[in-house]
Amino acid sequence: MTQPEIIKKFKEKGYKITPQRRAIIDVLVKSGKPPTAKEVLRKVRVISPEVSLDTVYRNLKLLSEMGYLIQINLRSSERSRFEILKNGEQCHHHLVCIGCGDSVCLRQCVLSEQDLKAIKEKGYEMVGHAYEIYGYCPKCHKKK
Ligand SMILES: [Zn+2]
Ligand SMILES: [Zn+2]
Ligand SMILES: [Zn+2]
Repeated sequence: MTQPEIIKKFKEKGYKITPQRRAIIDVLVKSGKPPTAKEVLRKVRVISPEVSLDTVYRNLKLLSEMGYLIQINLRSSERSRFEILKNGEQCHHHLVCIGCGDSVCLRQCVLSEQDLKAIKEKGYEMVGHAYEIYGYCPKCHKKK
């Protein structure tokens, strides 16, 4: 999704658009490789020097809960990466290298219709889920 599309959704849901929030969304949308929270912080601080890591995390959480952001869980949570979903995309998952932290998108969700049905039947409202495949990328595999 683009930054204006996400900002429109925030407004529709009654969230305030602060310059910091705008900058955080901007950094996420423009990042080639999905950034970590600290990388987001570093880039946002160029525009909004007073922004805190807490604010970054709060916004990442909100974007995830609204379904616009995927969290890619590396083995240490500090290094989780965040990727804005494409328009109309519900979810996808990742291959993660435990050597260098590189990640590759798998263009599909692993939840089946049956899983989704079971979640509903159990009375849960799903706000997110995680699924990563850990291993070594070809570069790291060669080094071993
Ligand atoms: Zn690697
Ligand atoms: Zn991805
Ligand atoms: Zn999924």
